Amino acid sequence: MTEIIDHQPFWRVKTLEELTQQEWEALCDGCGRCCLVKLEDEDTGDVHLTRLACRLLDHGSCRCKDYANRHQVVHDCLAIDPEKVRSIDWLPSSCGYRRVAERRDLAWWHPLVSGDPETVHQAGISVRGWAQSEGRIKVSSYHRYIIKDFEDD
Ligand code: SF4
Ligand code: SF4
Repeated sequence: MTEIIDHQPFWRVKTLEELTQQEWEALCDGCGRCCLVKLEDEDTGDVHLTRLACRLLDHGSCRCKDYANRHQVVHDCLAIDPEKVRSIDWLPSSCGYRRVAERRDLAWWHPLVSGDPETVHQAGISVRGWAQSEGRIKVSSYHRYIIKDFEDD
């Protein structure tokens, strides 16, 4: 259930640091974009997104298949916290955490707004339908799957 403060939902009035654990988890829209494999250019430091998704990503729900143990299973899975939300430049601008950090409202398709976890997929925000599992791809071929950065938010 969404907490209403002064007639405003929590994401409009709280900072990331003020969120309860439940609110923090609910703020994730379930897009799966942060679970895409990223490649860093050793010369420039630029980070390139690929359409390859972490092997633990469920391609239907775009949620992690083992969320509770993800850091034991995937060692480079990033634990997102308020500081990282503000410093990581590859977090998509659509991300619920980034929006709150930047004092932007959530979009209509966010499950907290729509009340429906399917709207993030219907709006074309999630990786459903086009992400591919990294599982069977050789690391040396990852560069073939580089995509443009997301522009929508
Ligand atoms: S990009 Fe943000 S909103 Fe989307 S799955 Fe990752 S943490 Fe959640
Ligand atoms: S372990 Fe889970 S949360 Fe972490 S990147 Fe992989 S699918 Fe995403």
